[in-house]
Amino acid sequence: MSDCLFCKIIAGEIPSTKVYEDEFVYAFKDINPLAPVHILVVPKTHIASAAEITAENSAYVAHIFEAAAKIAKEQGIAEDGYRVATNIGENGCQSVKHLHFHILGGRKLNETMG
Ligand code: 5GP
Ligand code: ZN
Repeated sequence: MSDCLFCKIIAGEIPSTKVYEDEFVYAFKDINPLAPVHILVVPKTHIASAAEITAENSAYVAHIFEAAAKIAKEQGIAEDGYRVATNIGENGCQSVKHLHFHILGGRKLNETMG
């Protein structure tokens, strides 16, 4: 999608700090980290949010979670624990309309999700 920030990052048109990449997903450091480790994992195809997941594209989500598990181990946060989260729409405070999962770790996170 031509006017999508994360599609541009995946295409290399906007620089990012890559931490993982394979055929289906791209992962990079969040520009405004909320924890010592804050990584975004995105599908290489444009999916607007988790609300757009269907039987046709749900394999991307499974693959993202496989990648997230690898990334967490590589980043040294797997043992102590971490959070994987995705925001959806206005009330979910989604600011970039390309499906992304936040991996947050490296400190004890807040108990509240809301
Ligand atoms: P959301 O609020 O949509 O769940 O998360 C979007 C995330 O993208 C935010 O945490 C924000 O800091 C991050 N972000 C926004 N623009 C950029 C950018 O240009 N580069 C990187 N690396 N992260 C970005
Ligand atoms: Zn996109």
